[in-house]
Amino acid sequence: MLEGHFLLSSGRHSNRYFQCAKLLQYPDRAAAALRGVADRLRTDISAGKLAIDAIVGPAMGGIIVAYELGRQLGLPAFFTERDDTGAMKVRRGFEVTPGQRILIAEDVVTTAKSSGESAAVLESLGAKVAALACIVDRRAEGITAPWPLYPAVKMDVANWDAADCELCKKGIPAVKPGSRKI
Ligand SMILES: [Zn+2]
Repeated sequence: MLEGHFLLSSGRHSNRYFQCAKLLQYPDRAAAALRGVADRLRTDISAGKLAIDAIVGPAMGGIIVAYELGRQLGLPAFFTERDDTGAMKVRRGFEVTPGQRILIAEDVVTTAKSSGESAAVLESLGAKVAALACIVDRRAEGITAPWPLYPAVKMDVANWDAADCELCKKGIPAVKPGSRKI
């Protein structure tokens, strides 16, 4: 968790940023961070509450999370990514089949905007999004996700509209550590 003045990929501002790539660079820590999530998913799958055929991580942040959950659950994992126009797409010949049940995997969920864009493209191809998993759930109060959410941790960290940002009002420049353009 970094401290400063950040422009989040959701467009909101915050004084905290979770750079999950720094955690995920260590495969053993990635496995440990997601073990609890995989266990809860497995429990709900066994109980018949959830069915998943594949895991999809929106690039960049979701790729390793999807891969690691796929490894632990024995499911295929692939990713969606932005094209040159910024639209979220399924590329590289990854196949989405009608009726396929998808778990979306993210590093951090703030507004579930990336997940929503991925869900829209997957569902336009006939798939059905069943749930969302992430490492950090940092949603503000009142921000709901349209699917059951399986976070590794829930963190209450403030984030604001740019217009309401105290750090902007103080004239502190915001940095953009995310990668929505990739
Ligand atoms: Zn700001």
